[in-house]
Amino acid sequence: MINQANTILKNVFGFEQFRESQEAIIGNVLHRHNTLAIMPTGGGKSLCYQIPASVFDGLTVVISPLISLMQDQVRQLNELAIPACVLNSSLSDSDYQNNLDAIKQQQIKLLFLAPETALQTNILDLLSHCDVACIAIDEAHCISEWGHDFRPEYRQLNRLIECFPNAVSIALTATATPRVREDIKRQLNIADNSEFISSFDRPNLFISVVPKDSPYQQCKTFVQQHPEQSGIIYCQSRKGVDELTAKLQQDGLSVLPYHAGLSSVKRGEYQERFIRDDVHIIVATIAFGMGINKPDVRYVLHYDLPKNIEGYYQQIGRAGRDGLDANCLLLFGYGDTGKIRFFIEQMSNEQEKRLANMHLNQMLALAEAEDCRRTPLLEYFGEASTKENCGNCDNCTTEGQEKSDLTVPAQKFLSCVHRTGQRFGASHIIDVLRGSSAEKVLQNQHNLLSTYNIGLELNKKQWMTLARQLIQKGLLNQDEQFGGLKLTQQAGEVLKGKVPFFALLQQAATTTSHTSKTLANPGDQQLVAILKADRKRLADAANLPPYAIFSDRTLNEMAYYFPHSEENLLRIHGIGQAKLDKYGEHFLRLIKDYCQQNNLQEVDNTQTASKATVNKSSSSSANSRSAEIVSAYETGQSIASLATQFKVKDGTIINHLYRYAQDGHKFTQPSQLLEQTGLDQPQIDSALAAFAEHSFERLKPVFDTLNEQVTYDQLHLLRIYFVSQLHK
Ligand code: ADP
Ligand code: ZN
Repeated sequence: MINQANTILKNVFGFEQFRESQEAIIGNVLHRHNTLAIMPTGGGKSLCYQIPASVFDGLTVVISPLISLMQDQVRQLNELAIPACVLNSSLSDSDYQNNLDAIKQQQIKLLFLAPETALQTNILDLLSHCDVACIAIDEAHCISEWGHDFRPEYRQLNRLIECFPNAVSIALTATATPRVREDIKRQLNIADNSEFISSFDRPNLFISVVPKDSPYQQCKTFVQQHPEQSGIIYCQSRKGVDELTAKLQQDGLSVLPYHAGLSSVKRGEYQERFIRDDVHIIVATIAFGMGINKPDVRYVLHYDLPKNIEGYYQQIGRAGRDGLDANCLLLFGYGDTGKIRFFIEQMSNEQEKRLANMHLNQMLALAEAEDCRRTPLLEYFGEASTKENCGNCDNCTTEGQEKSDLTVPAQKFLSCVHRTGQRFGASHIIDVLRGSSAEKVLQNQHNLLSTYNIGLELNKKQWMTLARQLIQKGLLNQDEQFGGLKLTQQAGEVLKGKVPFFALLQQAATTTSHTSKTLANPGDQQLVAILKADRKRLADAANLPPYAIFSDRTLNEMAYYFPHSEENLLRIHGIGQAKLDKYGEHFLRLIKDYCQQNNLQEVDNTQTASKATVNKSSSSSANSRSAEIVSAYETGQSIASLATQFKVKDGTIINHLYRYAQDGHKFTQPSQLLEQTGLDQPQIDSALAAFAEHSFERLKPVFDTLNEQVTYDQLHLLRIYFVSQLHK
């Protein structure tokens, strides 16, 4: 049966391979074991019941809490020629009747129902006359009272299940703590060995945090770096949403707002326009996102600090569901922290207060992390991150930056805080240090202090960064209500010169840019634009979102391989028989015309097995990129020249080489790595010995052992050599 599943995956969905745990889950369901699947958003849960539903003879009933998501799935399934429908009160009488007839005549493979609908007597009666083979329960955490989204109707679903003892059930969710998982298993009679938990890591999301210096400008720049791409900007308040929307609109950007203060008609309309690519950007409060399944959201920008990791993760998770690279940026300002803390202080329930504080601290650990941002993120979900360097967050791609000794400026700053009475915020302190004649400075007679005008060596932005780091490292506390800075005990040590202060000052200069290398094989962009325009026309005519016709990846592959025949079109990711029948001719025509006009040839797609390279999870496409970089490296080029060639940072090249070595590959000339360090043999020997003694996972202990004589850049190269020699 799993063979049949594979055939459906290829011929109907046009995908080459199952993702991580999909195959095991589907196999388990096909063997009729009740199953619990826990996968992150975008992990590919739908396929886990859509494929069994296509294999089973009878009907699969899918329980889902949101009408918009059900309709979206039905649209997409019908596009794949899989008969699916929904029964709910929003249907017209004639549509409802047509669907009923189709179900009775056994023409439907998947029936989508809200839980309350499924429990209605007339529906139970209808189902009792059907051959129900499978019951899929989406968003299964709603079953549990321990979950964050408990729905009493879900609790009663076992009544539905009892009616169909021969049907296998599968429960799916993206969020489930151990307690919730136990609850789901007990309720739905799922054995422990039928529980499948995928990693919560979403390797295709680039995660970065930048200091919130000039938020509007930063936001605008970021958005402009993603022209014609869909993105979501999250703000904390409705007012914030409205203001930001207005500004972006004034600057000519394609943007609409979304928050609970808008009428439900407006919300529905705006959401639909976003889904249909009529508008590119949605500025929203956290109210936005539950009901959408748009796979090609290319970025999520957090304009304000989220209150907890759970929410942050859920929101960034809406980007890059299609597995292609997506960019997640958080603007992080201490002002936001203050606001949240103030808010927490207002809570009357002590228990809630403690919890909210804990959640905020976890979020801060991520925002302030100096190492991989995935570590605190995954830790939150009880997962240890497997790599020290994920290669896809800001800290991992800029690793190796040297910290500088900032003891003197730190002392100046701290002493200015002291002399101004520990009542003022960073910006006032900086004014004093830089000798400003701002009114507030003069009024308080701070121009008479000994710390007045002693800080011209740093600009305002650099001082801000320093201030943030002083807070981050616990030398200063910020008053939760008024924002005034206060010295901690630790500050005393630095002031007295007992402890030095090292930090990164470049951080302020970090740009918000991260160029997504969305695809291993970028297609001809002019053709992509032509194909997109036609996809949009067809979608509008059929009243569908564009992604229901073809995904971005599909169009991109078309513009890379220029298929001229139906046979070759079928090799493109996401094209199965139904899509070929429906749209093949039209798109072949477009491609052929374009090739003729531009004198382009079809590219052979049988050797390179496009689906295999591009279609795999993004980590595999990263593998193919690693291979590309390694082969360029092996021609003897330096890291720096590769960085220029591939338009990435040195650190990224190093990461690729490291990953390549970690995967057990060998370099043809490993000694090249050693030569490029510029170290002499005794230094190399002692470094390698240090790697053997300490773990190679972390560089710091090795760096320390070598008395800081070998730089991090050199250690990175040595580590690659060391790891590549482990697999002899
Ligand atoms: P979830 O419900 O877990 O959030 P979806 O089921 O919506 O995720 O899947 C996310 C995206 O991944 C969809 O666009 C889907 O078509 C795609 N997808 C799922 N499985 C595969 C696969 N094996 N190969 C390629 N794409 C896949
Ligand atoms: Zn990382």
